[in-house]
Amino acid sequence: MTSTVAVVGAGPVGLLLAGDLRTHGVPTVVLEQRSAPMAESRASTLHTRTMELLEERGVLDRIGPLPDGGPGHFGGLRLDLTAADPTHRHAGQWKCPQTRLEAVLQERAGELGAVVRRGRRVVALRDRGTDVLVETVGTDGRRERLTCAYVVGCDGGDSTVRRLAGFEFAGRDARREMLRADVAGLDIPERRFERHPRGLATAHRWPDGSTRVMVHLFGTTPTPRTGPPRYDEVVTAWSQVTGEDIGHGEPLWLNAFDDTRRQATRYRRGRVLLAGDAAHVQMPVGGQALNLGLQDAAELGARLASSDLNAYDRTRRPVGTRTLTDIQAQSYLLLGGHEVEPLRRLFAELLEFDPVRRHLARRISRPAPPRPHPTAETTPKDRSSAMGRLTHKTALVTGSSRGIGRAVARRLAEEGALVAVHYATDEDAARKTVESIERDGGRAFPVRAELGVPGDVHELFLGVEHGLKERTGEAALDIVVNNAGVTTPAGVLPEDVTPEELDRLFAVNAKAPFFVVQRALPLLREGGRIINISSGLTRFASPDQVGYAMTKGAIEQLSLHFARHLAPRGITVNSVAPGITNNGSPLFDIPEAVEQMAQLSAFKRVGEAVDVADVVTFLASSEARWITGAFIDASGGTLLG
Ligand code: NAP
Repeated sequence: MTSTVAVVGAGPVGLLLAGDLRTHGVPTVVLEQRSAPMAESRASTLHTRTMELLEERGVLDRIGPLPDGGPGHFGGLRLDLTAADPTHRHAGQWKCPQTRLEAVLQERAGELGAVVRRGRRVVALRDRGTDVLVETVGTDGRRERLTCAYVVGCDGGDSTVRRLAGFEFAGRDARREMLRADVAGLDIPERRFERHPRGLATAHRWPDGSTRVMVHLFGTTPTPRTGPPRYDEVVTAWSQVTGEDIGHGEPLWLNAFDDTRRQATRYRRGRVLLAGDAAHVQMPVGGQALNLGLQDAAELGARLASSDLNAYDRTRRPVGTRTLTDIQAQSYLLLGGHEVEPLRRLFAELLEFDPVRRHLARRISRPAPPRPHPTAETTPKDRSSAMGRLTHKTALVTGSSRGIGRAVARRLAEEGALVAVHYATDEDAARKTVESIERDGGRAFPVRAELGVPGDVHELFLGVEHGLKERTGEAALDIVVNNAGVTTPAGVLPEDVTPEELDRLFAVNAKAPFFVVQRALPLLREGGRIINISSGLTRFASPDQVGYAMTKGAIEQLSLHFARHLAPRGITVNSVAPGITNNGSPLFDIPEAVEQMAQLSAFKRVGEAVDVADVVTFLASSEARWITGAFIDASGGTLLG
């Protein structure tokens, strides 16, 4: 039986998928009706999540440095996309011509062993239950048949695969249209979604001296088209909106786009799947279509390789639906006439608020599936927390003035938990953690206590209990994260470790967490969570860290044995082991050092504090109720060797 996957369409989505399938060892053939790659660049914007995906695959290295795409927008209202995650290395948006991206993705897919067959148009498909028969016609008119295990339509908005396989493509047709053109020989001012009494105009000068103009006349409906618009249509609309004559310019490329909104009602029918524009068409605003498509491909590659195909539909279709809804909201704001002015003013006012900016920027740059509707498995308490997964929960995060602890405190608060931000000496840093949480609409308070000294845990809990009672009326805890820790200075040989040094390591890293857990027991509610931060060094030998690693071994034992002890109360206890993680220390400002450390991870980068915080937040959520006593490797594959 064949295991070949046929990917139809050699655009960025199909080529990324083909490369990914090859990394999983799946025989892959790409069928493309065009004989040569496209010369024009339709889409060029890459968002944070896509940059991460391309980086993980080594594609960014091949492309080389990309220019910053500047701030983004929401429906033409300025929205700085770095607000999504300001400290992220790919915060914001980036510009990469589609032709370049395609060329690099094709090179990668080819090197990995995918066969790209250009000049082959798919004309028939038959899903026979155990395989799919695909019939193609070449440019010479010759027909060929191919038997494959699965077919994936990555063949764009007019997808032949979607039509031949009988997918339902629900939605609505266009109501508004925007004309665009790249024009040489123009000398007109730069404009970014400039609203005039009669319409909307944008002008942007490309590095080659040509100008991209986009224009929409308010209240007009789309012209039925079989090809691109004529230049004189663009000239007339431009003059009606701006009063300028651009008739002397030389059009290099003409195109019209509209606000059609359609989505396949399922992304899989038997052995046929859809990804990218074949699965959803939407107004191409802010580059979301390309990013959504590439993210579809990344998910589908892994799902096809593990034959978990329904999960692809389950995860990607809701993301598509939500993105399409957001794009529709943007199209109203952008292309609506005077009737939308009050709405635009209100939106502009809302965009003054940090949490609003962050929320919308995230939906564009890191779209995640919407939260699932409550199911029989979620408890009544969970159902009340519609705001975030941890609303009404309380948490203590030790050592959260900076580094990983700060990121954990921020993420837990973001999900709605009230967080006790513990620190030892750096009051200023702890205050900054609390302030940043409050700025984002969360709740937190600082607690000082030096751990590893007599009376440490008692002092800590006096502060925690007081802070909780003041804010909630009771001293109940749901989540305890033992994160505070100290390390041995690098380069100290095992021969040179002193008893005092080993005592200090054990006091802070092992003894204090033990008594934190013991002291927290009467305060912990049923279904509570204890998460102990260990280290990849319990599995990865580094002789100069032997003492430190021994203490982390101890904390893992703490997780194991307390997990059994606390299971009757529904409390889970787990260890999370980060690898080298950027905690903001000066070492991470030295590019050579970072480069060297990055080599340890399978993804060839150092971890970010939020990478670990996301894992901790998951363990703290009700979704992780079935995990206890576990050692979770959060080292970016460092332990894979
Ligand atoms: P970090 O940036 O050095 O921050 C340490 C935190 O712990 C600070 O909030 C500090 O508070 C607190 N702390 C230190 N000594 C303390 C003491 N005696 N009593 C009370 N609090 C104390 O740490 P990190 O790098 O984010 O690491 C966090 C955890 O992850 C640690 O358990 C560490 O072993 C583990 N880990 C880190 C990495 C990594 O590469 N970063 C790798 C593996 C495991 P003050 O600043 O206020 O004094």
